[in-house]
Amino acid sequence: MSKLEKRLFDNDPYLDKITATVESCEKIKEGYSLILDRTIFYPRGGGQPCEGGTINGMNVLDAYDEGGEILHIVEQPIEAGTEVSIEINMKNRRANMCHHLAQHILSAIMTNEFDNDTVSAHMEDGYGHIELPRKMTPAELRDLEARAREVIAADHPVKTYYITPEEAQKVKYRGKITPHDMIRFVEIEGFDINACGGCHCRSTGELRHIVITGTKDVRGLFRIYFKAGADAEAELENRTLYLMSAQQSLGVEWSHELPEAAESTAKALMGAKATLEAYHNRIETLYYNYFLSISEDIGGRPFIKDFINDYYDTNTLKSVASRLVKEKKATVILCACDEQEGSLIFMRAKGPKEPDLGMYVKKLMADHGGRGGGSPVLAQGMFPTFTDAAHEAVMKAFEDIRNDAVKAAL
Ligand SMILES: [Zn+2]
Repeated sequence: MSKLEKRLFDNDPYLDKITATVESCEKIKEGYSLILDRTIFYPRGGGQPCEGGTINGMNVLDAYDEGGEILHIVEQPIEAGTEVSIEINMKNRRANMCHHLAQHILSAIMTNEFDNDTVSAHMEDGYGHIELPRKMTPAELRDLEARAREVIAADHPVKTYYITPEEAQKVKYRGKITPHDMIRFVEIEGFDINACGGCHCRSTGELRHIVITGTKDVRGLFRIYFKAGADAEAELENRTLYLMSAQQSLGVEWSHELPEAAESTAKALMGAKATLEAYHNRIETLYYNYFLSISEDIGGRPFIKDFINDYYDTNTLKSVASRLVKEKKATVILCACDEQEGSLIFMRAKGPKEPDLGMYVKKLMADHGGRGGGSPVLAQGMFPTFTDAAHEAVMKAFEDIRNDAVKAAL
């Protein structure tokens, strides 16, 4: 039997159980690699995963093509010459067949009617996706889905066959052909011919539904997610749930009002973000100027120590302290606290050896049940419970750090 004839799924992807003979069994890193005299396992590749299944009840961990032979990976060895019963996971196979055929239909419509040629396609567990050069509008996606419905309703027969590359040149097919000894065509009669090695349903009607379920901009391409067959049915069952959940969240009466409501909410959110950022910048500037106003000159550098116990946000304080260190070569030691927690942010410019800010933070944390540490020039800590004793120790550390700085400046 030739390598091509061994691939029973080529002519009959519906075949889910057969017996076969083991031709060879080889130990490999992942287990044992079996070659069979014939197989129904699709070797993963070409955008289609392997469906999984069993050989003599043993799980097939993987199946892939190597030089035209299909390798079946299992955990235990089976001697060459043994007759085995093999079975594939038909639920996965059916899903792959549906998504593969759906992909042909969608890609054909996009090429023929939207001038948008598929760059790549993949089947995943429960859905497929196609990547395209041009972004499509929601209205175009609706029209694409409507056209796919017509192709399903027409119930075009689907046939597959191998021909030589020379014969293939005489056929009016869609897409590209990658060089092979024999070309496998998938023909949706009266609609589309495309070279493909995957598994497909025998007619478009078998899909029952194709639904577009999402889109994404990825690496300069536009990706469309879709579901077909049973997966599409499950999606459609949930459509009302999705729509009504969004409708209730956005407070609109009708589902057709959703796009406008979502757009105005997104706009309002963007406006609010811009306002918030402006406030944030203003607060940073106020802190910056305030810290400079309370600073002490030690050796020509500003020394700033402060307790903040009203409004604070450690990220803002860190950002302000970094600016002061960078722009003014300052030393900034801050303790910010609320009724419960206390945070330390200690930073200084590189230069003098003292003070070692990391050492101070480590000691305070160790003595008062906090977490933190750092280097001599940058240290941070947090007390989950900021006790009076911790408060006093921090005040004391502030003085000690100041004395270190004075000594280092002499
Ligand atoms: Zn295909």
